[in-house]
Amino acid sequence: MSSLLSLGADSRSAVRKLADTFGLPRLLPGWVWLAGAGPGDPGLAALHTLSAIADADVILSDALVNPELLKLARPDAQIIDAGKRGGKISPAQATISQQLIAYARRDLKVLRLKGGDPFVFGRGGEEALALVRAGIPFRIVPGVTAGIGGLAYAGIPVTHRDTNQAVTFITGSTAKGLAPDLDWQAIANGSPTIVLYMARKYAGEIAAKLIAAGRSAQESAAIISNASLPAQTTTITTLAGLGSAATTAEAPAILVIGENVRLAAGLDWLGAALGGKTLDPDPLGRARFSDAG
Ligand code: SAH
Repeated sequence: MSSLLSLGADSRSAVRKLADTFGLPRLLPGWVWLAGAGPGDPGLAALHTLSAIADADVILSDALVNPELLKLARPDAQIIDAGKRGGKISPAQATISQQLIAYARRDLKVLRLKGGDPFVFGRGGEEALALVRAGIPFRIVPGVTAGIGGLAYAGIPVTHRDTNQAVTFITGSTAKGLAPDLDWQAIANGSPTIVLYMARKYAGEIAAKLIAAGRSAQESAAIISNASLPAQTTTITTLAGLGSAATTAEAPAILVIGENVRLAAGLDWLGAALGGKTLDPDPLGRARFSDAG
């Protein structure tokens, strides 16, 4: 036990030293930091996030935050599970904001830890506005969002000149748990790559709307479950196959539709490193058409 505690203490002091080396601000009493923890791999958490975990008196943590990161917390820190998972009972948003305010008013160092990036489908803006209204000083620490970093862990660049010069991020279910009510025609026309968060439930419905709006049923699509975690799996499919693939995919899952998905055949660096997968140097089949080739 004591060796475990001293391991944590060593790590905390190492993180603080590193933060001080760069002259970084530290989480102060009476402040709230809203910080992203990244999609899962602790190595993707920012130094600001790590130093706040090491310093915090109170940590309100989301369900999607990798619990490994909390090993860095002080043994006397209060860790509150403020997880919000679709379909499960979770603390009301107003309650979380009220807790942040109440702890800050008690002059505690308060960390609100969120999966991915706090401002990407994370309600970070709502919580920050509640702090503004209450006059509580705060800092936002961006994180690696699942819709970019999760794709990278599957070898899918979120943009690539040959496939997509734009990308659209969509939440696949609304605050009320309904399918999103969007202009699917405009999205089908103007978004070569579409990244969907929280979309397992309505993937089939969304795919059907995109096909009805003119997207090819054969277009590439992928589902990445548990991105950046040891349990990561990638399913490569088509727009027509996305709905049924989504019903069996494990949560959390990020969905991507677009020809940039084809690059995974060349860039699945993790599959190559862990599974000995052979990477295709020309995943888009361009060499055949290239003058230089
Ligand atoms: N703020 C988070 C998103 C919160 S919404 C971010 O920036 O990443 C929750 C959704 O994020 C999940 O339903 C899933 O679609 C996606 N997600 C988060 N972590 C993920 C992971 N490790 N693998 C796949 N998808 C993930």
